[in-house]
Amino acid sequence: MKYNVDNKGYYGDFGGAYIPEMLYPNISELEKNYKKISSEPKFINEFNYLLKQYVGRPTPLYYAKRLSKKYKTKIYLKREDLCHTGAHKINNTIGQILLAEKLGKKRIIAETGAGQHGVATATVCALKGLKCIIYMGEIDIIRQSPNVARMKMLGAEVRPAKSGSKTLKDATNEAIRDWINNPTDTHYIIGSVVGPHPYPDMVARFQSVISKEIKKQLKIKEGTPFPDYLIACVGGGSNAAGTFYEYLDETKVKIIAVEAAGKGIETGKSAATSALGKEGIIHGSRTLLMQTEDGQITEPYSISAGLDYPGVGPMHANLFRTKRAEFISISDDEAMTAGLELSQLEGIIPAIETGHAFAIFQQKKFKPNDILVINLSGRGDKDLDTYIDYFKL
Ligand SMILES: *Cc1c(COP(=O)(O)O)cnc(C)c1O
Repeated sequence: MKYNVDNKGYYGDFGGAYIPEMLYPNISELEKNYKKISSEPKFINEFNYLLKQYVGRPTPLYYAKRLSKKYKTKIYLKREDLCHTGAHKINNTIGQILLAEKLGKKRIIAETGAGQHGVATATVCALKGLKCIIYMGEIDIIRQSPNVARMKMLGAEVRPAKSGSKTLKDATNEAIRDWINNPTDTHYIIGSVVGPHPYPDMVARFQSVISKEIKKQLKIKEGTPFPDYLIACVGGGSNAAGTFYEYLDETKVKIIAVEAAGKGIETGKSAATSALGKEGIIHGSRTLLMQTEDGQITEPYSISAGLDYPGVGPMHANLFRTKRAEFISISDDEAMTAGLELSQLEGIIPAIETGHAFAIFQQKKFKPNDILVINLSGRGDKDLDTYIDYFKL
């Protein structure tokens, strides 16, 4: 069994590029060039330089002593929350902006839901002096005003998506429309391991720096690069893909992917794609997605905007179907409780997305000698208002 992408852009039954004909030139330009450009020494040197000097990598692999004591197992935290802009998303935007530059693109577009990917994109556009346009649902613009202000401060133009439910999927549609109309000078930076091939593979490669570092760091701390468990939350799946990447074929390392159950899988208000999803096509990729009997995409729900997506990337759909990964669904309440607990046991306030990964201890027991690595995908500053409302702080 092979868990990484094949040369046609598939992970088992999932993936591919199901796109309108008008997008062919853009996607095939990318497909032809992404591996070639990103394996040139000049590209690798600049990517590594920026990850080190600008993002602040390598991020620490921190042994969480009090959390380990409480759950009677050995827990390491991969500190992606310490990346510049506060989450893993910038690993991908750095990679893609360098690629765009090498392809001679002058204009960058992106979609964003909560605004985290929009901020990471606006940041690298400022870094490179490229024009930046972020599509965002009109409702999200109101809900996430601090991130809208950040993007503007960084010099980006934020364009409201006014159709449909006025949220992430509508912003994605607007971005695709823009790309079709501007095929030569524009690069579209997708924010997770979703979309048509080559995006899922390209984003996973840029994020794989996370597992490359874990291997080295764990070897020094534990004498082995292999933990017993790798754990990460899954929205589209980019932080999880980065955490799992170097271990996909090392089947002695167990993989746990954590999804948002929202108010509960049975309530119709969740984003638990593996539990509820069926095979279908979303944003150019064959994958698992939440849909009605007649194939309409279901509105997802999660308290964390970053997990509020009706699908998962094709890599994760395949990890689920082949049972390489165990999928666990965590409710809003469980995630919030875990976020508070991590804050008070370790002095680290996580993003609510990340809180989902830490809530597995409410559902699963580990052995005292098990080595766990949890990807701490982002910090919780952006979520303070939600924490304040929830806990009446
Ligand atoms: C965006 C985000 C996620 C979800 O996106 P993935 O592509 O699944 O990683 C998770 N955690 C944080 C902190 C985020 O900002």
